[in-house]
Amino acid sequence: MVKDDIIEYDRLHLWHPYTSMVNPLPVYPVASAHGVYIELEDGRRLIDGMSSWWCAVHGYNHPVLNKAAEEQLHHMSHVMFGGLTHRPAVDLARRLVAMTPQGLEKVFYCDSGSVAVEVAVKMALQYMYTTGHPEKNRLATIRSGYHGDTWHAMSVCDPVTGMHSIFSGRLPAQYFVERPAVRFGAEWDESDFAPMARLIEQKHRELAAVILEPIVQGAGGMWFYHPEYLRRLREYCDRYEILLICDEIATGFGRTGRMFASEWADIVPDIMCVGKAITGGYLSFAAVLATERVAYGISNGVPGVFMHGPTFMGNPLACAVANASLGMLQEHSPLERIAQIEQYLKRWLGPAAELPNVADVRVLGAIGVIEMKHEVDMADIQRRFVNEGVWIRPFGKLVYIMPPFVISDSELETLAKAMVRVVAEID
Ligand SMILES: *Cc1c(COP(=O)(O)O)cnc(C)c1O
Repeated sequence: MVKDDIIEYDRLHLWHPYTSMVNPLPVYPVASAHGVYIELEDGRRLIDGMSSWWCAVHGYNHPVLNKAAEEQLHHMSHVMFGGLTHRPAVDLARRLVAMTPQGLEKVFYCDSGSVAVEVAVKMALQYMYTTGHPEKNRLATIRSGYHGDTWHAMSVCDPVTGMHSIFSGRLPAQYFVERPAVRFGAEWDESDFAPMARLIEQKHRELAAVILEPIVQGAGGMWFYHPEYLRRLREYCDRYEILLICDEIATGFGRTGRMFASEWADIVPDIMCVGKAITGGYLSFAAVLATERVAYGISNGVPGVFMHGPTFMGNPLACAVANASLGMLQEHSPLERIAQIEQYLKRWLGPAAELPNVADVRVLGAIGVIEMKHEVDMADIQRRFVNEGVWIRPFGKLVYIMPPFVISDSELETLAKAMVRVVAEID
């Protein structure tokens, strides 16, 4: 009866992501999770298709990550970062600087992805201010983006799915152009960049930065676009003295088949946000990396300091786990395995493209997406997935998976085939 008690109290008192307090969607109590399995309180085991939203790339309850957390606990779980530093923070910075595209040298730690986006935007605005361009204080982005739920982050999320209308007049107004239409892997068409080119040509005097998710737009539409778009954008940002912010919070650490999605275009952003998989899904943590030019531009101006410093900045426990997580990625590169996962996903999800209710199937790296013609009934489809023994959390028309990299071939087959079976059952 413990289980019913949990569900009832949860329903009455707990807000879940993007849900109603009056009419919440059902939730499934979890007892534990190991490897790629999520174990429910009722004993059912589900193969995890979500990596808990891009995070748990090594799977759950990983001995190396557990050990890192346990060892760090015996030293300290936290100390303030103002006036103090510690080995976990420094070791992690070393790894991040080494792993990320060359030129990103200065590291700012913060608590979550959304905060990382706030920090990145603040860096861009403060950089323009301190380098004599306070009028360059707006952002441009592409539609269908997702950058988090805090204020500036929300202002660059897709205006429709991000529900800007609710907050109109309060949210900073930014510039939007349509999302890139040319798919990843398709033939590049120069006209695809025209809307962004036009915007930059017209508005560059007002623009501090362009922010976007490189190659893969995540929660805003699960859309994969052509790397040439990023190369063109890099050129335009340079030409018009606009900073380029790449939000790699979802795409970073291998998910798209490269360690960072920016690498598909061989570009280096001026500012890059990383989060989610950084701690392997253990703790909320994120980092913003900036070039020397940005960091020195801010620091050589007035007031000479970057105006941000969260309480839990550089949290040692999170840094220690992140070190262990990134250490595994560095020592045993997951990229080969991710390329295999991509091939399997294409093979096993591909047939869904023939279904009458399916609009599109697309795969990149360890991400598989089935786009439906209509929005799915969330409670219904979720129940069907759980009954199939898999954990897949769709939104809107998008049914998608991004499993832990450690998933085996047979687990992946079960996951992907269950996904197609359920999609075929619904309308
Ligand atoms: C998840 C996500 C964020 C927000 O991160 P939180 O840790 O949820 O605040 C920002 N940008 C992108 C691309 C994301 O996928």
